[in-house]
Amino acid sequence: MSWKISSHNMEPAQILVDESLFFTGNGYLGVRGNFEEGLSIGQQSIRGTYLNAFHDSVAIPYGEKLYAFPDTQQKLLNVIDSQSIEIFFGEEHEEERFCLEEGEVLSFERHLHFDQGFSERTIEWRSPSGKEIKLTFKRLVSFLDKEAFLQKIKLESTNFQGRIRIVSSVNGDVANYVDTVDPRVSSGHAKLLKVTAVQQLGAVSYVECETTNTMLKTACAASYQLSNSFKRRNHLHANSVVSEFIFHFSGKATFEKKSIFVDTLRHGEGLAVSALQLHTKLAEKGFSQFSIEQESYLSDFWSDTDIEIRGDSSLQEGIRFNLFHLLQSAGQDRFSNIAAKGLSGEGYEGHYFWDTEIYILPVFLMTQPDIARKLLLYRYSILEQAKLHAKDMGHRKGALFPWRTISGTECSSYFPSGSAQYHISADIAYSFVQYSLVSGDSNFMKEHGAEVLFETARLWVDTGHFDGESFKIDAITGPDEYTCIVNNNYYTNVMAKYNLIWAVKCYQLLDSLDGEQLSNLSRKISLTKDEIRTWQRAAERMYLPYDQNLDINPQDDTFLQKAVWDLNNTPKEDFPLLLHYHPLTLYRYQVCKQADTVLAHFLLEDEQELTTIRNSFDYYEKITTHDSSLSSCVFSIMASKLGHKQKAYDYFIETARLDLDNTHGNTKDGLHMANMGGTWLAIVFGFAGLRIKESGISFHPVLPDKWEGYRFSIQCRGRKLQVEKTAEQTIIKLVRGEGLSISVFEQSYHLEKEKALIII
Ligand code: BGC
Repeated sequence: MSWKISSHNMEPAQILVDESLFFTGNGYLGVRGNFEEGLSIGQQSIRGTYLNAFHDSVAIPYGEKLYAFPDTQQKLLNVIDSQSIEIFFGEEHEEERFCLEEGEVLSFERHLHFDQGFSERTIEWRSPSGKEIKLTFKRLVSFLDKEAFLQKIKLESTNFQGRIRIVSSVNGDVANYVDTVDPRVSSGHAKLLKVTAVQQLGAVSYVECETTNTMLKTACAASYQLSNSFKRRNHLHANSVVSEFIFHFSGKATFEKKSIFVDTLRHGEGLAVSALQLHTKLAEKGFSQFSIEQESYLSDFWSDTDIEIRGDSSLQEGIRFNLFHLLQSAGQDRFSNIAAKGLSGEGYEGHYFWDTEIYILPVFLMTQPDIARKLLLYRYSILEQAKLHAKDMGHRKGALFPWRTISGTECSSYFPSGSAQYHISADIAYSFVQYSLVSGDSNFMKEHGAEVLFETARLWVDTGHFDGESFKIDAITGPDEYTCIVNNNYYTNVMAKYNLIWAVKCYQLLDSLDGEQLSNLSRKISLTKDEIRTWQRAAERMYLPYDQNLDINPQDDTFLQKAVWDLNNTPKEDFPLLLHYHPLTLYRYQVCKQADTVLAHFLLEDEQELTTIRNSFDYYEKITTHDSSLSSCVFSIMASKLGHKQKAYDYFIETARLDLDNTHGNTKDGLHMANMGGTWLAIVFGFAGLRIKESGISFHPVLPDKWEGYRFSIQCRGRKLQVEKTAEQTIIKLVRGEGLSISVFEQSYHLEKEKALIII
């Protein structure tokens, strides 16, 4: 049940949204769910194929460019289009082209299979002259052979036999999508890829392109298989290779296209050789073999990652949809990470944000630790650039990770809600700590984590200052982008405090575990013992805003002095506010785009009394618009913690089907990856109340009233646990690994294999 999404909708607006929903990818390659045959002229489509991290850099146009504003930004490019396949039925002079706008569509359906990893579109079509054809299009982007994109078309007819011509292309004449009114989508630089080679290499059609500024190259090489004997003609154009296949059809035929995508980031120069080698390697594998392997890969994935919800099939569909797309978007090499829209679209230009660490990484950390590790290695790989960025921003020491980036340099042109979000450095440090707590992998901490923690700790000391008894951090922006450039943002300060504490702990740990390694690292980054003492002092004295009258943590020093935005009298069509009000207007009010202090209370709950956390939740809930998709999941988690069962559920519904129901209205630009991770967090950290601390892991499982039960697995320190909650009981099983102590409802238990813990 619920292992797929389906659509029967042919409305142009929904087709556009479905291009994102039905995308297929594997973390390296992503192909939007466009139609092989194209759409009618004038119908909007965002036709896209993306290679994670494959980008060009473009100048940022400023009216007034001040000191250290970034000169350029990166942009994920739409690469070579190999999706196009047109089909013509009938003799040469009376051919009828298959398309949805002509003739009659007798039935239309499409599916994306999460357990089998392919998408499928079936159309029963009557041509203008009455030929009835059933066409089934299948697509698969392989998880095992990352470069491979497969298409298979099955043609069936009961009343037509005769000539068919299939025209398939590999086309380098592509551009990116632009939208001049939505700041979340690019407003310029559509065409950055130029074609450098168009060749027919034996049976393989080959197109190679180069970016305008980064000089990165990519190539696509396609080969074909047809069930019937055919005549083939290849046409080499300036930007494309078009191959025609003509054959006699006697009621049934299948056509397969295998496109291999390579790029110079991963494959080095000599792309044609790499592409041809891959074709040779995969020559024996057709769509059905790829499908078998894909299903087996996914069966492993789901056995570790699935969440079962009993009693609500539409939410079940939502959660599996989200997890599947997270996997499809997670970059797993040192060049890539997870873009805000994954590989499903061009929103936010393919940039990586804090979304990865705070919203997505925990999902992988607890279910697919190897992917989490790779995501962190990407951050480590851009540490040197983060140090340079800190220098540019006037710091003597430390690493400031870019707010948004692909290759490591800062890409935000509007610094108040961009570069000023220093918290990303603490978020990354937080993730390294979480990874080490969950994996217990001290080598990873020694080799990578320590340096990240030390350099980010340095940043806080350099950014903040001691003011009497307190350590304060001024002029930064917290997660809530409707309040910018503030002093002492609670979220930032408390995360910086954690960063500093763990930098000190890590130093001490390394000292005891491997003094030599510590000396080497200290020498490498010129670290002194004085610095460690300063980190300790800054952490101890970190100022955390607190308002005694309200017993809440104010978002920052001046937040509570501002007028409260009148949300009740704001017209519905004015949301999201960012598209209807100048930023300064928003900055003058108490109004939040997204969870900020409430998020800090989730990540670091031991910093405050429960009453303060509760009061803060009530306070911020009234002034939060959730205009950002990163918000509802956090409110759901915290509502669960505070015992607001119904609220937790209501917020959860907002997150679980956000893209499926296009509730933010911009799913066409790509799926909201952070929110997708947030759905998982809302179940595992929210309903099941998981927390990861130095003392171990703990649960507080509750069941939403509307559900019969839920079940999921997590991994921790080499063990795999399965947690099941029903109305009557909580069952926790140790599925793999040695015994482990955990806490459930504040009680300690020791889990042993084959002895389920049952709590009634
Ligand atoms: C949110 C940011 C987020 C970005 C990318 C913005 O709307 O406010 O917190 O990082 O989207 O998802």
